[in-house]
Amino acid sequence: MSSLTPEQGVTLDTRLVGVLGGRTAGALEKAFGMRTVADLLAHYPRRYAKRGEVTALDSVPLDENVTIIADVVRVQERAMRSRRGGILEVTISDGQGRLLLTFFNQGWRARELVPGVRGIFAGKVTVYRGALQLSHPDYELFDEEHQLGSSSDVVAREWAQTPIPIYSSTASIATWQIHKSISVTLDVLSPIVDPIPDHIVRERHLLPFRDALEAIHRPRSESEAREGKNTLRFHEAFVLQVALVQQRLETRQIHAVPRVPVPGGYLDRFDAALTFELTPDQNTVGEEIAADLASEHAMQRLVQGEVGSGKTLVALRAMLAVADSGGQSVLLAPTEVLATQHARSIASALGADLTAELMPTVVTGQLPVADRKRALLNVVSGRARIIIGTHALFGDTVIFSDLGLVVIDEQHRFGVDQREAIRQKSSSSVHTLVLTATPIPRTVAMTIFGDLDVSTITRVPPGRKGIETFGVFLHDHPGWESRVWERSAEEIAQGRQVFVVCPAISATTSEEPEDEDPVSRPRASVETIFAQLVGNPLFAGSRIAILHGALSSLEKEATMRAFSSGDIDLLVATTVIEVGVDVPNASTMVVLDADRFGVAQLHQLRGRVGRGEYAGLCLLVTSAEQGTLGYRRVEAVASTTDGFELASLDLELRREGDVLGRNQSGGASSLRLLQVTKHEEIIVQAREAAEQTISDPGSINRYPALAAALSRRLSEAERHFMTSS
Ligand code: ADP
Ligand code: MG
Repeated sequence: MSSLTPEQGVTLDTRLVGVLGGRTAGALEKAFGMRTVADLLAHYPRRYAKRGEVTALDSVPLDENVTIIADVVRVQERAMRSRRGGILEVTISDGQGRLLLTFFNQGWRARELVPGVRGIFAGKVTVYRGALQLSHPDYELFDEEHQLGSSSDVVAREWAQTPIPIYSSTASIATWQIHKSISVTLDVLSPIVDPIPDHIVRERHLLPFRDALEAIHRPRSESEAREGKNTLRFHEAFVLQVALVQQRLETRQIHAVPRVPVPGGYLDRFDAALTFELTPDQNTVGEEIAADLASEHAMQRLVQGEVGSGKTLVALRAMLAVADSGGQSVLLAPTEVLATQHARSIASALGADLTAELMPTVVTGQLPVADRKRALLNVVSGRARIIIGTHALFGDTVIFSDLGLVVIDEQHRFGVDQREAIRQKSSSSVHTLVLTATPIPRTVAMTIFGDLDVSTITRVPPGRKGIETFGVFLHDHPGWESRVWERSAEEIAQGRQVFVVCPAISATTSEEPEDEDPVSRPRASVETIFAQLVGNPLFAGSRIAILHGALSSLEKEATMRAFSSGDIDLLVATTVIEVGVDVPNASTMVVLDADRFGVAQLHQLRGRVGRGEYAGLCLLVTSAEQGTLGYRRVEAVASTTDGFELASLDLELRREGDVLGRNQSGGASSLRLLQVTKHEEIIVQAREAAEQTISDPGSINRYPALAAALSRRLSEAERHFMTSS
């Protein structure tokens, strides 16, 4: 460790190697990716142990890394039988249980590990001759004056109150080594400017930043630790919201061409031909979008609503407004299958005349060359007013005549970088509309989509027959499997159509690894299930086909078209059919190994049926055992069709990390103290404070420490995460 002093200018941005030396800094970087002082100081304790409190030694888990506070009760050195050298055996106790520590050829340790001393011991619990032990544990003994009995009662009691921070640690760097590194760093840290503006610190009774860091890492009491944590939690929420508000203001500054429908134009003609009334929600959201489109600033709006709530229709009306103004719109779907499907349903919604005039055109990567050329020509000439494709559309050669609007359907299916890429490629002056059916609780929306305006469609159009969902739990009721196929055959006999979704394409490949629990059961695959069903007498006269991502786009399209027109009775597929597929005659959705899918995914899949006049039936088949996460997800989806209720059930089942992105725990830029499920109030208040602080994109310049905190926290990865889903 070093002997730097605060005068030498250690700041939050100083590299750790200059403060701690290469060895420790290297270990910290390797274990946690930490590089700077700020990274290290943001490694907050996972919890605090009390010095007086001793981890129950009678219940130490085998094969796990444990940290134990205990007293040495017995020390014994003996010679090894087969080899030269000696074993030092140290017994520690917390008064309830005992544990053996063993050290080979380290007899000198007997000088410090004497009976009566107390310390903190860490290592992996192994079993030797039937007894639990720690072999060569790391340890740190408490100071002389802190040993019980060796100082006055008052000192001992005070000392026993002091929380010991316990950090997430690894085999190569133990919690107290982290604590020491942090202590050394805090000792030499120069005064730091608070990233939170003064008046907010005062109003919210926050600790000054420096004090908060001291309090969380070196608390003198539990309440001090709590106070530090509360302040730093608000820091996290505030910095994140400032970033989102900033981003939002920046995009608001982007000039865009106002798009206003003309009386008697495409939109009016479309509305006049509608065979149904818009729902009140569709009307409200439609007005919000119309106002955005009419403004000189680029729209950045998210429309969220149930599967089948009529979002696509709302988006189509926006595209017609743009067409009225002479502009083009792009609809981006997550897959080619969906792009083609969208094109078909848009054409049928528009009717023959409008279709001929607006020329909805599909541009996908896999179009035959001649078709693609023709499509591109229609796009560049401006004859095609509505273009449908996947994000590949922004990959290369597509040139628009006058692009006014980009609609991104089912945002959650897009990869992390794509939304940002789309924004850049489409020149930033277009209006953007994002549609999602994945239910998002308010705080998550605020956190993830905080740079977007949000519209919500809460009610589906009237007259839907609804969907009944059943969990088919094969572990408890193996016999139910045949019932699944009987019900499917019954639906087919009544002229309905059936989807069967499998988590894998073939017995050896998988399309979507979704699951976190390491179950070794083979997964139902499209190929095996197809073979089984074709051979099943129940489906003797049925037309069965398969659909998955490994087929060519021509095959996929042909199959989807055949299914849409009723020429296929049962489709065995992967989740390529998850979103958007709209076949009103399909009544039944069977999901095999349903525990392998996420809640939102199951909800999406279920939304494929019960879209027309026929009641939907969704059978979620699983072999998962009761109580497992997979089982509980299936139970949750079966328990309600209300997407928002499901969203909160989902949140309870998920770890935070899944909500906000994969890299929650590791990366230096992730949220640590803030949990979107628990800290709604803080998020809301931080949002308000951020909006007050940042009133225009230049406001940030008045707060250099905040600007620095922003750039520290928002690594590239996090920026990407915030601009996509
Ligand atoms: P989403 O995109 O939200 O899943 P869609 O826009 O695809 O929903 O609408 C689902 C189905 O409901 C479509 O067949 C659409 O034509 C129909 N639909 C949309 N709005 C209404 C409405 N107001 N009344 C009746 N049917 C509607
Ligand atoms: Mg849709």
